[in-house]
Amino acid sequence: MDENRRNFLKKAGSAALGLGCGFPLLMAGCSTNGHSSEENSSSPNQWAMVIDVQKCKEPAIRAACIEACRKEHNLPTNPPPNQPAREVKWIWSDKFETAFPDQAHKYLAENPADLQVLLLCNHCTEPACVKVCPTAATWKRKSDGIVMMDMHRCIGCRYCVVACPYGSRSFNWRDPFPDRNDIDKQARKEYPTRSRGVVEKCTFCAERIRLWQERVDKDPKLLESEPAPIPACVEAANRVAGGEGALRFGNLGDSQSEVSRVLRDQNTICRQLALGTGPNVYYLV
Ligand code: SF4
Ligand code: SF4
Repeated sequence: MDENRRNFLKKAGSAALGLGCGFPLLMAGCSTNGHSSEENSSSPNQWAMVIDVQKCKEPAIRAACIEACRKEHNLPTNPPPNQPAREVKWIWSDKFETAFPDQAHKYLAENPADLQVLLLCNHCTEPACVKVCPTAATWKRKSDGIVMMDMHRCIGCRYCVVACPYGSRSFNWRDPFPDRNDIDKQARKEYPTRSRGVVEKCTFCAERIRLWQERVDKDPKLLESEPAPIPACVEAANRVAGGEGALRFGNLGDSQSEVSRVLRDQNTICRQLALGTGPNVYYLV
């Protein structure tokens, strides 16, 4: 194992374990521990995702990813009536021409208006959302580049929602579980529910990264069979016929990771690179 990878695993372990914070605080970020300005600087290690646009043309694959994330993270099922813009979503499907307005042209092999792509937070290298938050409720984790969210610190100003050029953040305009009994019936106990008035978004399944790290710390040989954590959406896509490899996840700081190899060997695009945010979600086209 090279030194860079060893250091990454060590640092990711500390971050993933929340440096002593309990699970609910970890998931919401760690308000007792806080996060220094150093946390917001860039890291040589970066979790990243590669999405295969052709494979994700299959609606069942996109639906499985969206549903897996919703269930895993206790997202409300339905958008408020007649207000789709107020839906709470971490991963969603939209037209290629909407997601890639600078790439869609009339000579594309497929009509960009017909082609649907999966979208989520890009865990940007220079996240516009982090720069505007007045309470440091969102920050870029130095150990592994994930842009985290601390719902305890969020005051609901929505500056980050406006600043994100990708529409990756959702605001809870209403109580996600207005009937408290629904929490018992529908919510996963292992993941915290949120309340009205806070912002949320994809965390690259930080909770799964933490559990993976714990297992690897106990038995480093596991890295051979499980070199990276598997986010819920990635796992769900793999389970659908034809969906294996539709989404791939790994560390860009490791030149031997699967995502590094794919980016080296195949043509990929990112959303609106000209904006300078440095997205870490890539699309195989
Ligand atoms: S996609 Fe948006 S919410 Fe995610 S890190 Fe980039 S600017 Fe922030
Ligand atoms: S990586 Fe995890 S949190 Fe992000 S969209 Fe996929 S399932 Fe949801």
